Amino acid sequence: MKPSSTQSLVRSDIDFDRDGKQVSFLAVPISTNESAYGTLAIPIMVVKNGQGPTFSLTGGVHGDEYEGPIALMKLSRILEPHHVNGRVIIIPALNLPAVLAGQRCSPMDGLNLNRTFPGKADGSVTEMIAHYFSSEIVPRSDYHLDMHSGGKTLEYIPSIFVPQAHGDSSPAKMRRAAEVFGIDIVVLEDDDFPDSGRFLTAMFTRAGKPGFCTELAGGGRVTPAVVSMAEHGIQNLLVNAGIVESSILPPSPGTHRDSRIVRVEDRQCYIMSPDDGLYEPFAELGDPVETDQVIGQIHFPQHADKPAVQVPAGRSGLLLCRRIPGMVARGDNVAIIAQPA
Ligand SMILES: [Zn+2]
Repeated sequence: MKPSSTQSLVRSDIDFDRDGKQVSFLAVPISTNESAYGTLAIPIMVVKNGQGPTFSLTGGVHGDEYEGPIALMKLSRILEPHHVNGRVIIIPALNLPAVLAGQRCSPMDGLNLNRTFPGKADGSVTEMIAHYFSSEIVPRSDYHLDMHSGGKTLEYIPSIFVPQAHGDSSPAKMRRAAEVFGIDIVVLEDDDFPDSGRFLTAMFTRAGKPGFCTELAGGGRVTPAVVSMAEHGIQNLLVNAGIVESSILPPSPGTHRDSRIVRVEDRQCYIMSPDDGLYEPFAELGDPVETDQVIGQIHFPQHADKPAVQVPAGRSGLLLCRRIPGMVARGDNVAIIAQPA
């Protein structure tokens, strides 16, 4: 039988309704110069024990964001059915080609998975992955956590992004659900980002389900403190959802934080570089900034005598995120400023 254009071409031998632990892969058909009738095998793990809610977790939607995939791979190895009431679905490297390349976008089709949802059943590799996730994982999930970080080009204060309200969950309930993660910053989302309708978490928003997203530190590196925070944060979310009853990790009191609650009020909080050149930041992550404050300046290595161009904050708040590479092009995001909520 020929699949229709709405039926996923991705195959898996996972039986989502079966009790126990299943470790397998999503088979995405590929045909490349290196592999004519090939399969992209994206690891997936399902742990189910009886009736109960489903928590799905993803990492590696962007391939240069390492902390989430590491925490999810570690969890995949230790989580057993006796830990679980309900179901946990873990896909640590959803955009596997990007993860293997250490790149934000897929080297196979150049696409950014988190700008591709809901995807296309008969589209390119990245579109097929997005479509499978939208049509097979979202409907089976009651909660979701999509683990991002700053990647190679940005560094965040470790943060969890919270949708404002879902179904019968009030904004206050959603905020409390995120605060249990134990992370520095809780960002209340206002859906102002121009592309947010194509994000993975938007599929949960549309379905009326809580879809959380982390932005862990990033900067193209991995630190023990942030990985530990990620692991314990996942565990805290699972316990809070009633899916895991007790601690599965050794206690690590040093990693739990009381969160500051912020929001990123509008697109003007994403500060754009006004020119090409070498960016010199003046503020550290977490610093308070004022609207008329200069947060950095751009130098011009080919015209050393040319005065530097100043970058004003334009908004007051705290520096939530900043750019890592020194060289910038006009339009690059050099900082994100968040406002206390
Ligand atoms: Zn990301």
